[in-house]
Amino acid sequence: MKNLKQAKKILKTVKNYDDKLLSRTTGLSETLSQLLKDYLPEGLLDDIKEIDKLTVQKKRALIDYISKAVEQIKLEEEEKKEKTVNLLPLEKFFSIQIKDLKLLKPIEKRAFKKVGIQNLYDALFFFPKRYDDRRFKSLSKIKDGETGLFRLEVLDIKKINRGKLKVQVFLKQGDKKLNAFFVHDKPFLFSYFRKGKEVILYGKVSVYGKDISIIQPEIYNQFDPVIMDRIVPVYSLRGDSTVKITSQTINHLRRGIFKILKEYLPLFPEYMPENIRKKYKLPGITEALKKVHFPDISENIKDLNNLQTRPQTRVIFDELFILELAYAYRKNLLKENPAEAIKTDNNFTEKFESILPFKLTEDQKKAIKDILNDISKPSPMNRMVQGDVGSGKTVVAIAASLAVAQSGNQVAVMAPTEILAQQHYRNFKNILGETVEIYLLTGSTPNKEKKKIYRKMETGEAKIVIGTHALIQDEVKFKNLALVIVDEQHRFGVEQRKALIEKSGKVPHVLVMTATPIPRTLALTYFGDLDVSVIKQLPSGRKKVETMIYYEDEREVMNSFIRKELEKGRQVFVVYPLIEDSEKIDLKSAEEGFKKWKEAFPDRKVILLHGRMSQEEKDRIMEDFRNKKADILVSTTVIEVGVDIPNASVMVIEDAYRFGLSQIHQLRGRVGRGKYKGYCFLVVPEEFKYRSDSPEIEKKREKALQRLKILVSTTDGFKIAEEDFKLRGSGDIIGTAQSGKFYFGLADPTRERDSKILEYAKKEAEKLIEEDPHLEKNPLLKELVYRKYGDRFNLVNIA
Ligand code: ADP
Ligand code: MG
Repeated sequence: MKNLKQAKKILKTVKNYDDKLLSRTTGLSETLSQLLKDYLPEGLLDDIKEIDKLTVQKKRALIDYISKAVEQIKLEEEEKKEKTVNLLPLEKFFSIQIKDLKLLKPIEKRAFKKVGIQNLYDALFFFPKRYDDRRFKSLSKIKDGETGLFRLEVLDIKKINRGKLKVQVFLKQGDKKLNAFFVHDKPFLFSYFRKGKEVILYGKVSVYGKDISIIQPEIYNQFDPVIMDRIVPVYSLRGDSTVKITSQTINHLRRGIFKILKEYLPLFPEYMPENIRKKYKLPGITEALKKVHFPDISENIKDLNNLQTRPQTRVIFDELFILELAYAYRKNLLKENPAEAIKTDNNFTEKFESILPFKLTEDQKKAIKDILNDISKPSPMNRMVQGDVGSGKTVVAIAASLAVAQSGNQVAVMAPTEILAQQHYRNFKNILGETVEIYLLTGSTPNKEKKKIYRKMETGEAKIVIGTHALIQDEVKFKNLALVIVDEQHRFGVEQRKALIEKSGKVPHVLVMTATPIPRTLALTYFGDLDVSVIKQLPSGRKKVETMIYYEDEREVMNSFIRKELEKGRQVFVVYPLIEDSEKIDLKSAEEGFKKWKEAFPDRKVILLHGRMSQEEKDRIMEDFRNKKADILVSTTVIEVGVDIPNASVMVIEDAYRFGLSQIHQLRGRVGRGKYKGYCFLVVPEEFKYRSDSPEIEKKREKALQRLKILVSTTDGFKIAEEDFKLRGSGDIIGTAQSGKFYFGLADPTRERDSKILEYAKKEAEKLIEEDPHLEKNPLLKELVYRKYGDRFNLVNIA
């Protein structure tokens, strides 16, 4: 800075020299190039070095040029200084509360409170749901049906009586005329529309030839820069429809956010690394936020409402990027923990296959290879095996367990219900026989037996323990738990998983098994830090479940088919949908259905299973059904995923259109698992059979049938899940509890474009974590990761 000042002084002095003096002046080359060497580009410095040799005119021109360049430097330096000095730390945006802001009126603060916004950050990142076009429009360019704001001069006003229309106002703009109509004749209209006065109206116009009219427009007394002559944000609550936002609230929010943007946005620090921003041509965060709330006047309103503008893209990218960054960060933290490195022979898989009564599919082999590779490292595995019902995931789990048991370490296999735990236990025993010590530990294990198992777990003798929540009781201790297998992950709380992980000194490897095919976008969104192995191939010889749609009036045809199956000794599942999120209604629909089925099959034993029963009751009923004590099991959607009833051959889905496709797909995987062919019947209302005159109902009908036909035509769980995802969003696949976990402001991974952004965001997040694993060089990003996902991802405990 000192050098710069000195150079400026010299430049100022020599600029005032006359030609004679200037031509005689030497030593400028040396002095100036020295003083300015840190400030100017090399090309210019080279020129400066030659300055002494130049003619007077050229010398003067160059000095002028350098002076200007130097002035520029000053500006940039000061700007930088100004910026860094005045920026607020990111943390302040979270700590400064809306209620404490002097710049907002109480009524505006109340509006923020209503929508749950407490601090500055929340306010800046509370985005409009859509936009209204409130730009001033010219009558000469307006098209029929367009909405706009108009500045007009009043020509006349009179009462009329034309149907509903009671008042007509004659207005003009330039040489164009407009008629405004009102459906009431309140006196204030007459004081507002005085002849010759300039007024501002907002509304949708109709154009018929030369006639331009507007009905019941909004009227304004004066120009208001927040809501006029611009594209105006319309705020609303996402996800929560119980809180009603009135247009007044929206207006207060607009004004409040407008003020906050003006006062605080310039102080908001950029957190995104410049290289990423440049690579994807993303605008700076302050510019993006400003324009997402109050877009440029020239912006395309369609693009805005489709979330296609650059500023919106920046926000969407950020939301997905920070999520993926949180995943990458957590994944890395986890990897830094020590885990038992499990070594296996090269030919482990072949040896394992030789004890099986069948050949492994290629996908099974690949999954086993992935797992063996993961657990051979001294950092914890976190892998999910995805595969349709019946694709043979259990065998993969058994292989992994055997590898760990053979290394002298322990395995815990955790199932969501007692009956599933028992089933796993039988499967493990069947394949591994007496070669490994395997125990079953559930709530109903007798106390004496429990104590014995606890002891064996503590000494390390029990190599594989299969169980339910009983596995995470306080008394339970493992000697060297190296692998935890969780069946059907999303029925299983994060907390329980954590508890199990905490039961061993080292962090165990974790293997999650799920029958829900999860589309890639969803997997990235909800299980971003899990490695995934997919089993797509079904074991050979597996017959596909024949799926058919039955309309209500064809029920008797279906029932006679079912009677034949029952005569052959088969069993039947009947499932009723959860009509609302209410157990009461749920129970009612199943109970009524239960009655119907008993009437239709008076000579058969029909039993009922519903969500209000205790787990023990449910387990007992399933066990009865398994043991053929009943022929038909009527239930709500509580049928345990994964329960094997080899003798069942028919799955009836009542009101099938109410189910998610993946859900039905899983349900039908329950039948045809033994040696018998399986059938899945989708029952839909009779109305669905015929075209409807109402376009609305017809659309619904078509969509429902189109969805169900996907099930008839394919058995590829992934294809079904993709379709479901496109048609109904993520809730059906992940379960609503999980899918509600992430509230993005603008991003929606179900949108094609966002799913692409998600891929880029993931790539960049992983790269960043590779370069800066603890985000020490990116403290603002770290802060955002912790603020948004710290609790949810349990980052504090992992770190
Ligand atoms: P999932 O848990 O994926 O629903 P399971 O592991 O329970 O499926 O397997 C379903 C049935 O298929 C079991 O009876 C199992 O023994 C059998 N099975 C698994 N893998 C194969 C295979 N490669 N070939 C033939 N049968 C298999
Ligand atoms: Mg299974």
